[in-house]
This record gives sequence, structure tokens and C-alpha cells, in this order.
Amino acid sequence: MQQIPQETIEKVLASTDIVRLIGAHLQLERMGAAFKAKCPFHHEKTPSFTVSPTRQTFHCFGCGKHGNAIGFIMEYESLSFPDAVRKLAAGANLSMMEVSDFPTHPETMPTPFHIRPLRPDEWDEVAALIHHSTNSWYRINLNREIFGPDPLACRVFPEIYEALDPGCCLVAEDATGKLVGSCFYHPRETHWSLGIMNAIPESRGAANALLREITRLADDAGLPLRLVSSACNLDSFSLYSKAGFVPVRIYQDMILSVPETGMDPASAPALISSVRPATMDDLPAIVALEEEISGIRREKDHRFFIENGQGVWTTLVIDGADGLDGFLTSIAHPGSRMLGPGVSRDTATALALLWSQLDRTHRGSTPVWLAPADATELVHTCYGWGAKNCELHLAQTRGGSQRHSGFIFPTFMPETA
Ligand code: ZN
Repeated sequence: MQQIPQETIEKVLASTDIVRLIGAHLQLERMGAAFKAKCPFHHEKTPSFTVSPTRQTFHCFGCGKHGNAIGFIMEYESLSFPDAVRKLAAGANLSMMEVSDFPTHPETMPTPFHIRPLRPDEWDEVAALIHHSTNSWYRINLNREIFGPDPLACRVFPEIYEALDPGCCLVAEDATGKLVGSCFYHPRETHWSLGIMNAIPESRGAANALLREITRLADDAGLPLRLVSSACNLDSFSLYSKAGFVPVRIYQDMILSVPETGMDPASAPALISSVRPATMDDLPAIVALEEEISGIRREKDHRFFIENGQGVWTTLVIDGADGLDGFLTSIAHPGSRMLGPGVSRDTATALALLWSQLDRTHRGSTPVWLAPADATELVHTCYGWGAKNCELHLAQTRGGSQRHSGFIFPTFMPETA
């Protein structure tokens, strides 16, 4: 299969000045280091379309369109990728020999991806990408959407992950300068956690390119990778399976609409009087308990939850006869309402923590949590409270230990298996 060599694409981009290119079509106004214009891709009265000479990219804050010179010409003149490259090559007086013999049909031409860290000014774009890729998959496969209509609610992902693990997000950029995939990861003492892979449905190979890079980084660090992946998404299962991940546990995603007035006191588990909010003094015991029960160590996460700089976390602990018997964190944010992570020694403590989180933190909302699929008593008690199943997830590991005892509540925020 023929494709445009990466070198040619880079040469064309290096020989094209995006400000001159766009300036030939739009009235550009200088604004500091950048240029502004009314967006040609959506109707607007005040300009929200910007062109950056340093990055050689354009970005519209109104409609989210973004890209390099190739992306602009494709969009503005409705050209295919090869035709856009040809046009720019001609405009820059580059030899047509170099770009004359690749196919005209974009579908026969795999797009090369550039994998690089996320930049701080790309949070809105990555939020839109997570929103679009996740909702598209759920709409097509499960006939519903996970996120509400506002893509900016998904800013919770870059906001929280960049606070927790600055610089640990990789993005895939296609040859038009558009972000087509993203993945966050979390290096820890005993393992690395891998976040949900987001790739737009139209991109082929972006998820694979991102996963290859993260497995390479984790292999260099000599640590196993862990993740939670949808058991309903066979594409994602195959992606991880091919990369050497092995499923170790099944979880059922459960949701419950908690009344404004709180949980029914008649359903309160026996041990709720032993549940209390965590303080920084509990940190060593929380870290040790998780290592004992799930075999992973990650003080950073638990310190982050208890410090609660974002004002969205609640960590509850349950006191036992001899120190802590469990803990459970939850997040309450418009983009994510979820219980977990947490561990507990037995069913009774797990139920007391779950019920207390629902009652104290999530009144009037519908949070989700992942319950171990084989925890029959726990799951049936949750059904009794009115909980419903909404998905299935697999805890997967690549290398390393898989031991566990007691109950583990994984989560997607932050991602942890
Ligand atoms: Zn626009």
C-alpha cells in the first residue's frame, strides 16, 4: 500500500507558513503573539478563530476545529488528505515528483500518528476528544451516552490527572495536526496504572500507537501495567489482549439513584457507626491496608484524595478491632460521579462503606461503582437498595503479581485496577 512518506509531509509543513496561507483566505488581525479571525467553519459575530505562528496551527474556541496547514486546507477547500498535501507542495514550489505517486483515495492511505505529551493549552481539546469517543462508542453499542451534552464537563480528566501526574498524558496527533487519541497513565511504586484509551472512531491505529508507547515506557521502568477495561467492548479487549494484558477479575458496574433525603435508614448496614471521614493521620494505615489486600502501593493517590485540593473527593474509613478494616474514596463532579478506589477486609465492612458514601456524599445524584462480580452477598444487598447493572469491566494486568484478598473497588477516576 502506498502512502505519503512522513518526510514529505514534514517538508510540506516546514515550507508552508500557516499565517500566510490562512491570511490569503481570511482577514487576520494580530493579537499578541497570535492572529485572530472570524471562524470560517461556524457562524459567529466575534472572532474566536486563532492562528499561532509559533505552533503553525489554528484553533477555534467556538467550534473546536483545530489543525495545521494541511488540516486547514482540507477543511476549507474540502480536499482529501493527499490533495491537500499536493496543493501545499505546489504552493511551496516543492518538487511534485515527491508527492505525485501516492493514491488519491484517503481510505487507502494509513495516516501516520505523532505520539507526544499533552500540552497545557490542549485541555479543552482533549476533553472534547474523551467526550466524543466515549459517547460515540456507547451510542453505537449500548444505545445510550455516558456523558451529558457539554464536552467541557470532561475537563475533569485533564484537570485532575495533570494535578496528580503532571506530564503523564500522551496524545496521538494525525498528519493534519488534529488530536485523534489520548491516554493518561499513572506511574506508582509497585506498578503503572493505565487510563482509558480514547481514540476518535474515525481514527485507525491511534489507540494501538498510544498503547505501544506506554507499554514501552512501563517496560523501561520494569513495572507491571494495570487497567480496567470494558468487557462489552471487544475492540478494546483485543487491543489489550494483543499487547499482553490478562484479565484477572470481573466487575459489575452498578448505579443507584440516591434520594435527595438520603438512603433509607431501614437499609443501613450494621457497621455504619464505625465509618468516619479519613484524616491525614490515616494515610499510613490506608496505604498499608491496600498493599495487604490488593498488592499495590500508591501513597500519592491517597494523599491527593485526603488533601482534596479540588474539593471533589471524600474518603471514608472504617475502624476495626485492630486498625482500619477498609476505606473507600468517591468523587462528586459534574463529569464524574463514582465510588472508589477502596478496599475492605470483608463483606460487612464493604457494605457499610458503600452505603455511607451513597448517603453522605451523593444525595440526589446517580453515582456508579464497580462491585466484584463474584461478591454475591454484596451485589444482592446493592440490588436490595435499588442498584442496577449498567456495564461490565475487567481488571487486567500485564506482568507482575495478581494476588488479592478481601474486596477491591477499582475506579476510572483516577484509573486504577
Ligand atoms: Zn469555529
